[in-house]
Amino acid sequence: MSKDIILVPQEPCPIRGVLVPPSVQEALQAHKQRDAVSKEAGGMLLGYRRGSYLEIVDVTRPGEGDKRTLNRFIRQSAQHCYLAIRYWRQSKGHIGHLGEWHTHPEAFPKPSSIDIKEWKRVTQATHENNVFLIQGTASIFAAIAWEEDGEIVLTSMATL
Ligand SMILES: [Zn+2]
Repeated sequence: MSKDIILVPQEPCPIRGVLVPPSVQEALQAHKQRDAVSKEAGGMLLGYRRGSYLEIVDVTRPGEGDKRTLNRFIRQSAQHCYLAIRYWRQSKGHIGHLGEWHTHPEAFPKPSSIDIKEWKRVTQATHENNVFLIQGTASIFAAIAWEEDGEIVLTSMATL
């Protein structure tokens, strides 16, 4: 893997593109749920907001304290926040939280109703446009969520 992936929204949206570099693709693929006993993984997406483009530079990974089952990941480990704060400080506030990722034990992942509720909650709380990724066993699902007239709106993304 040596190519950037550019994700573009499938409907008009405040974000025009999301850059996913090879290092981030590899980090997510390392947590693919390859067999019936592997548990969901997840974490934060960290990177730059460049106008209407998001550039992911790293992700936080599952740690001690996270709740993990076959079909649920709940981010609870303090490690995620520690890494996010470290990036924030070292980049003088330029690298921040862009969204969240988790895995699904299916080839072509689709968000559950719980996922959508959670993505809306995060977007409401951060007042930012956020990107959400689900790493499946064969492909990635991507969505953007943003606030419009007091409502949280979502659109899925496709690879350019
Ligand atoms: Zn999910």
